[in-house]
Formats: sequence, C-alpha cells, structure tokens
Amino acid sequence: MKCLIGLGSNLGARRHTLRRALTLINEIAGVELSGVSFFYETEPWGVDNQPNYINAVARLETSLEPEELLNRLQSIEAALGRVRTEHWGARTIDLDILTIDDKKISTPRLTVPHPFMDRRNFVKIPMRDLIDGLAPIVDDGVRKTHGSPMDYRLKMIACVDRAWGLGIDGRLLYRIEEDMKRFREMTWGSTVIMGRRTFESIGKILDGRRNIVITHRPNDGVETVGGIEELFDRLSTEEKNFIIGGGEIYRQLMAYIVEARVTMVDAVSDADVRLIDLDGREEFKRIETAPRGGFEYRTYCRQKFMFH
Ligand code: ATP
Ligand code: MG
Ligand code: MG
Repeated sequence: MKCLIGLGSNLGARRHTLRRALTLINEIAGVELSGVSFFYETEPWGVDNQPNYINAVARLETSLEPEELLNRLQSIEAALGRVRTEHWGARTIDLDILTIDDKKISTPRLTVPHPFMDRRNFVKIPMRDLIDGLAPIVDDGVRKTHGSPMDYRLKMIACVDRAWGLGIDGRLLYRIEEDMKRFREMTWGSTVIMGRRTFESIGKILDGRRNIVITHRPNDGVETVGGIEELFDRLSTEEKNFIIGGGEIYRQLMAYIVEARVTMVDAVSDADVRLIDLDGREEFKRIETAPRGGFEYRTYCRQKFMFH
C-alpha cells in the first residue's frame, strides 16, 4: 500500500526531530520510506499562541495494516517526546496518516483520508512536492525553509548485475576499467558518502573528493558521521553529494535520492546484497540507457507521481 504521512513539529529542535522521525519511519519493519517533501515553516492552525511549526509530507510503501501503522507512528511520537495535552496544542512531533491508497477508513482510532487535510495548507503545499496535478493554492502562512534531506540533492552511483545485485561477501561483483574511470570523473571535486564496509573495501580515501564515512566507530584517517541525521548536519547544499554504497546505505537514503547513475552489467552473479529494482518504482523514471559492450549506463531521475 502507498501511504502519505503528514509530519509536524513546533517544540525543540524541530528540523532534527522531523529528520529523526523519517529515519525511524524507514526503520519500521514492513515500511519503506519512498519520498519526502521540502520542509515548510508554518503558522499554527486551530490553536493560536504557540510557536510556528515545521511541516513536511512523506510517502511510504507498507505491508502493515492501517491500525498497525498508526501504532508504529504513535510509538515514534512517544519516543520523540510527544506529550498529549491540549488538542491541537504544541508538540515535538505529530505524525498523521493522510491517505492510504484510495482507501476510506472510519474507526474510533483512525479516519482516512485525514479529515482536515483538504483545509490545511501546511499539508497541501508540501504534498505538491511529491504529487503532480494538484490544483494551485495560495500559500498563505506557509514558507519553504531549510532542513529537509531533499535540500542536499543526493545522487547515487552503483554498479549492478541484471538482477540488481551489488556485491557478495563485502566485495563488488564487477570491476570494469571504463566504469571506474567514469566514476572518478563523475565524482571528482564532489562529496562521496559511503558506509564503513564500502570504505574498507576501497581501502583508501578517494583523492580529489571529500570523503564521508557513515560509521559508529570514528576513524582518525577519514571524516566520519555516526548516522544519517549527523550526515545531514554536515553536508553542504552547495556541493554535489554522491552516495556510493553499500547496500544498507543506499537503502537508508533511497527516499532522498534525486538521481541514480547505474552501471548494469549484462550478467547475473551470486549476490548477497541487492539494490531495489528502480524500473519498478514509480518515483523513479529512467531517462537514459547507453549500451556499451557487456554493460550499459542508465540514469534514473526522481519524479512526482499522480494522485489517485
Ligand atoms: P489532527 O488529527 O486534527 O491533526 P492531532 O494530530 O493533533 O490532530 P493527535 O493528538 O495526534 O491529533 O491524535 C489524536 C487521535 O487521532 C489519535 O489518538 C488517533 O487515534 C486519531 N486519528 C484518527 N485519524 C487519524 C489519522 N488519519 N492519523 C493519525 N491519527 C488519527
Ligand atoms: Mg495532526
Ligand atoms: Mg496526530
């Protein structure tokens, strides 16, 4: 099922809390985050005399039952310090289910589509980042602000086999000379972001580029970050930022990737790590296929989807 979630925070480190919530949503078993809007600073709705909000809308795929999804979202609200006092009052985090496919649900705990979504610009404006074909609206009291993972325009580069296999036993499946050269040229002067295992399998810092390794164990020889929220604190929106692997890092950041450069080798190998099939995802569109001998270069771009 495809689902849209509205996120809001008006207490504490609002941007951090929203990014943490996105990470936790992506970590729910049976949930895959597949997109997020920019962040918007918005005036309180319903109850005045409270701080401004940061709002966003996220999109996810889930196999969970709606009430189970609601339970998970409420656990995340609690983990992030949500205290329920007055209705529509200030909160560190609010996670609302906006839509689930085109389902209509009306139970004591859950109303879907969310009953007020059509009247809330703080929902409708972020939704426009994810969905095409919505009617224009006046963005009174809703201003785009910084802090969304989308601000960094993450790109990814990967080399896979026909079955989207990435590697086996911590190694890449293939090393194609021409592809390695292209990788170097494409990333030259940019920031390259990788997991610890990928860094260790490369065995050195990639020269001419800012290297960032995501790891729990700091390493003196290279710039490290403890997780993806810290990554977003450190990245620059002025640089080109490339995610270069491995499988787990692609998975954690896939929802934020705006462009994927894939080298697909014309073979199938034994792989223990795979990329998702980008041709099967409506949020990605293949815009280029360039056959070479024995492999091809493909480019995928993130796109909005049509609302049902
Ligand atoms: P609003 O729902 O108007 O945005 P709110 O988000 O401040 O208000 P909460 O205190 O977060 O309200 O939630 C109150 C109750 O709303 C929850 O306990 C939940 O059972 C119920 N609820 C009904 N429909 C939904 C939905 N679509 N998404 C999230 N909660 C829902
Ligand atoms: Mg709400
Ligand atoms: Mg709520």
